[in-house]
Amino acid sequence: MNLADKIRTISDFPKEGIQFKDITTLLKDADAFQESIDRIAERYEEEDIDLVVGIEARGFLIGAPLAINMNKGFVPVRKEGKLPGDKVVKEYDLEYGSSVLEMHSDAIEEGQKVLIVDDLLATGGTVNATVEMVEEIGGDIVEVAFLMELDFLNGRDKLEGQDVFSLIIE
Ligand code: 5GP
Repeated sequence: MNLADKIRTISDFPKEGIQFKDITTLLKDADAFQESIDRIAERYEEEDIDLVVGIEARGFLIGAPLAINMNKGFVPVRKEGKLPGDKVVKEYDLEYGSSVLEMHSDAIEEGQKVLIVDDLLATGGTVNATVEMVEEIGGDIVEVAFLMELDFLNGRDKLEGQDVFSLIIE
């Protein structure tokens, strides 16, 4: 199945000039959703992974089913102010302004092997903040995985030293 065809592009969202990749059209297609998760999981069949870390919110839609498929635990990285326990906090730059991501400090044990997942790699700021938090609390990152990557935004440059996998590259 050509999974790229299942993702639609919406012009001028959330701001004028942006071509937004809308994954809801893939998610509502049972076969496309299933195949996406299966194909990412297949890549890690032989890998030693303890936990899947997913980034709010669309990273949950890929990361949680992936964790179930792989029979691994799931750890959420959340936007500011949502997590109840002790946490690590990372501010990162957006195109205009900045944003904050958080994760529980005890979510990962020292040396646990982690797969970080988000729906889409654009400039790389979001996932880079997540990489820094996972490393700060002692996680060992096996790879960073995306449903889709926008190659022209060079997000991989921000992820130097990390292995990166994208199911769909445009
Ligand atoms: P980055 O930090 O790499 O610039 O942006 C990636 C983050 O923003 C991801 O968490 C992703 O969900 C969201 N994002 C940015 N652009 C798009 C897009 O075109 N489509 C989708 N689905 N998410 C996007």
